[in-house]
Amino acid sequence: MDDAILVLNAGSSSVKFALFGAGTLEPLCRGGIEGIGSRASFGGAKGPEAHLFDGVELPETSNHEAATRWLLDGIRRSDRLSLRAAGHRVVHGGPDFSAPVGIDDAVMAALDKLIPLAPAHQPHNLAAIRAVAKAWPGLPQVACFDTAFHRSMPRLAQIFAIPHELTDQGLVRYGFHGLSYQHVADVLPGIAGEAAMGRVIVCHLGHGASLCAMHEGRSIATTMGFTALDGLMMGMRCGAIDAGLVLHLIEQRGMAPAEVSEILNRRSGLLGVSGISNDARTLLASDEPRAREALDLFAYRVVREAGSLMAALGGLDALVFTAGIGERSAVIRSGICRGLAWAGVALDETRNAANETRISEDAARIPVYVVAADEERPIARAVLQQQKC
Ligand code: ADP
Repeated sequence: MDDAILVLNAGSSSVKFALFGAGTLEPLCRGGIEGIGSRASFGGAKGPEAHLFDGVELPETSNHEAATRWLLDGIRRSDRLSLRAAGHRVVHGGPDFSAPVGIDDAVMAALDKLIPLAPAHQPHNLAAIRAVAKAWPGLPQVACFDTAFHRSMPRLAQIFAIPHELTDQGLVRYGFHGLSYQHVADVLPGIAGEAAMGRVIVCHLGHGASLCAMHEGRSIATTMGFTALDGLMMGMRCGAIDAGLVLHLIEQRGMAPAEVSEILNRRSGLLGVSGISNDARTLLASDEPRAREALDLFAYRVVREAGSLMAALGGLDALVFTAGIGERSAVIRSGICRGLAWAGVALDETRNAANETRISEDAARIPVYVVAADEERPIARAVLQQQKC
């Protein structure tokens, strides 16, 4: 029997999963369940062990617990794999969790207390942990946090200019997308050599979007803040915005906090500016001037924030694109890199159009790379490390 590690990423209505071989950390299969809470369905799996889930129906009524049990039953059917541990993506580790942690009752109690910091995500992450504990008692479990990678930021990059009592109560910049940045930090030395240990800006551009300034493979600044609403313009989120505008909506326009939240989190960004779609592909295919303006603003915001991170880093040795837009949109990468030409960024447009790994001109001062996002592998790696301890 080969040892395997299960990685779960549980959202409000979905569970993404991946199974890794413990020896090689090669993915054995990846897949997902969607529609939890309404009509649950198995979205399929890919990889050499995907057959484990063939031919067994997932009940439509599945909640998180039933979906997790269904997944674990699939793994139990294997006569080749022995599940050794499970790792979970947990959005918030708060001020204290700066590394992956083995789960016990005390850790769960601490993670429960962080729910108010990420009410839309944390409860589902924790529900998945409890579901595994129920369906497979005794299986070691490890929590890996989206915020942990940024705990290395210097204090000035973490605190806001608000009364220190509020800072002391944990109202600080946590930053997110940390597992994606961890993966880039893990693989970049093999791609970029020495530059990987220098001053690097990573652009994670998906539905959610943020930038991370890394030095020696560690985060020193990032664009997301206390919540994942800060920083770049995103698919539906506004990103950094004058807090006075929020007050205006509440105090002058009489909007309820929930209405303001809906506007800033779900009706802004690419969707709000274009009035058409939150999907970059739809906007790229549109002739509407508002679609153009939304994409132009998206690139402009990345350029502005990248300039700010360059100042925090004191220069730049490499630029990296990752996640849906970052990996696949040559047009958007090109627009961003044109805005950074002053810093020595110059793309080879043939390589860019082909989504090659290195897309900058050979002679350019700043190498530019495309790295496929993988938020599951760093979790599997962390689980293995915990197991060795
Ligand atoms: P998530 O943040 O939910 O993990 P992804 O990383 O998959 O999302 O990124 C989703 C975004 O990537 C969407 O805005 C989608 O339009 C965009 N995207 C995916 N493929 C392409 C493409 N070929 N060209 C432009 N944008 C793309």
